[in-house]
Amino acid sequence: MAEFKTDIEIARAARKLPIQDIGDRLGIPAEHLLPYGHDKAKIGQDFIRQIQDRPDGKLILVTSINPTPAGEGKSTTTVGLGDALNRIGKSTVVCIREASLGPNFGMKGGAAGGGRAQVVPMEDMNLHFTGDFHAITSAHNLLTAMLDNHIHWGNSLEIDERRIVWRRVLDMNDRALRDIVVGLGGVGNGFTRQAGFDITVASEVMAILCLAKDLGDLERRLGDMIIAYRRDKTPIRCRDLKADGAMTVLLKDAMQPNLVQTLENNPALVHGGPFGNIAHGCNSLIATTTALKLGEYVVTEAGFGADLGAEKFFDIKCRKAGLHPAAAVIVATVRAMKMNGGVAREDLANEDVEAVENGCPNLGRHIANVKGFGVPVVVAINHFHGDTDAEIQAVREFVATQGAEAIVCTHWAEGGAGAEELAHKVAQLADSGASCFAPLYPDDMPLFEKIETIARRIYHADEVLANTTVREQLHAWEAAGYGHLPICMAKTQYSFSTDPNLRGAPTHHSVPVREVRLSAGAGFVVVVCGEIMTMPGLPERPAAENIRLDEQGWVEGLF
Ligand code: ADP
Repeated sequence: MAEFKTDIEIARAARKLPIQDIGDRLGIPAEHLLPYGHDKAKIGQDFIRQIQDRPDGKLILVTSINPTPAGEGKSTTTVGLGDALNRIGKSTVVCIREASLGPNFGMKGGAAGGGRAQVVPMEDMNLHFTGDFHAITSAHNLLTAMLDNHIHWGNSLEIDERRIVWRRVLDMNDRALRDIVVGLGGVGNGFTRQAGFDITVASEVMAILCLAKDLGDLERRLGDMIIAYRRDKTPIRCRDLKADGAMTVLLKDAMQPNLVQTLENNPALVHGGPFGNIAHGCNSLIATTTALKLGEYVVTEAGFGADLGAEKFFDIKCRKAGLHPAAAVIVATVRAMKMNGGVAREDLANEDVEAVENGCPNLGRHIANVKGFGVPVVVAINHFHGDTDAEIQAVREFVATQGAEAIVCTHWAEGGAGAEELAHKVAQLADSGASCFAPLYPDDMPLFEKIETIARRIYHADEVLANTTVREQLHAWEAAGYGHLPICMAKTQYSFSTDPNLRGAPTHHSVPVREVRLSAGAGFVVVVCGEIMTMPGLPERPAAENIRLDEQGWVEGLF
């Protein structure tokens, strides 16, 4: 049956248009489209500058319930909704993140949507694409090389080698590099010190590329990054090493958004991919703002569930860039509701209306939270084969009690045609002018109170637990002029709480803060609750073992 073809089979059968045709539809002149092959192109900075006076289209956020192993389909719904809006005559641009190379070789990858709601060319998107991540890796590691070199040549900045916070990055899951010693082998190799690698998506350079308004802003933010401290604990910034200019040069092409297309030949910008925990987890600001100048509607997604992804999208990205989201879609599935209601993964195929009902409070809290930002909400039930009418009805009825509507969507099986009803509703919400978006907390609230506000209002926790080291650090940053920054929470995506096993809508829990970090260039304070892995490892049997080229040169085993 057609609907059970794999994502890759469907993607390979796509009838792609030359990328210039997609650019033409958006009114991008050929000289401003920088093609990478026939089906990918970057949009030139000059063109982006030229269109700044145009009015903005309407911004629609796709977010979801807390993820479960059952899968939700945020990217799939983002792409499906984009195609559906185009089908009903609304010119729409989809904006999603680029994929990290690392996870592809561990577990099966894929960040381009799925089924008949995908962005193509999906193999390229999940491999090297247009080289943006390589550029970020190079820029990041240039700074580290200059740092160690500075120490080698006399350390005139008086960097305390014990207080270097800038690591190295690689776009690969490689646990052996988490903690390493550099500078072994003799005097000519510099000073020996403990160091380590993170995966590229965890780099602050990635977060900055995704929040910078333009190249000037990019260079300023790179310069602001704190990379080490002196013995008296005064910070050393990237600017002190004079690395910001060369890093910007390395990133100049990576700053240009990538234009590709959906299976239905609609435009999609795929650009940037910051971590969803120690960073804000959404595609680049420049892609979003450019798309808003090119389409009547822009559909974008935020990583993880709405408690992390949407909160950061609103409180970091929208706050800092002055974006006003017009509507939000919360993706839910019957299967995920059942898992939230206590059903084990292997039993998901059995109808269980009671479990669906028991799991719905998780969805209810996300609806209330997103509405709390002043953004009108609709729920998309991403339909999976095997969902029963009674189970779907249970979700519908629950959502109605929360003052919202749930619409069943079949875009995974049918493409944009399967999300037309959702598209009409989204357009109506976005056009109604009902959105009165406001961030959760004001800039001038003390940092600890900001954390408490997120914990109480979004997670429904009773308290935030933090020792004096954490509290004093936050005070010190306030005194140093960083008190106005927003908070970037790093906690488990699987629960409103910090316990990944606590599904549903837990209350009366505590949020223990393990550590706080300052991303002075990206412009947020990271609050780490629990273990956050910034360099993943590969599983016992990595997917890479099965990846190879077949006789025709197609990539096998990637998806
Ligand atoms: P998310 O963005 O929430 O992580 P994706 O949209 O990337 O999820 O989808 C993850 C996987 O689930 C993809 O392989 C996709 O094909 C699959 N998927 C999504 N929706 C459905 C559906 N309705 N039925 C079957 N598989 C689906």
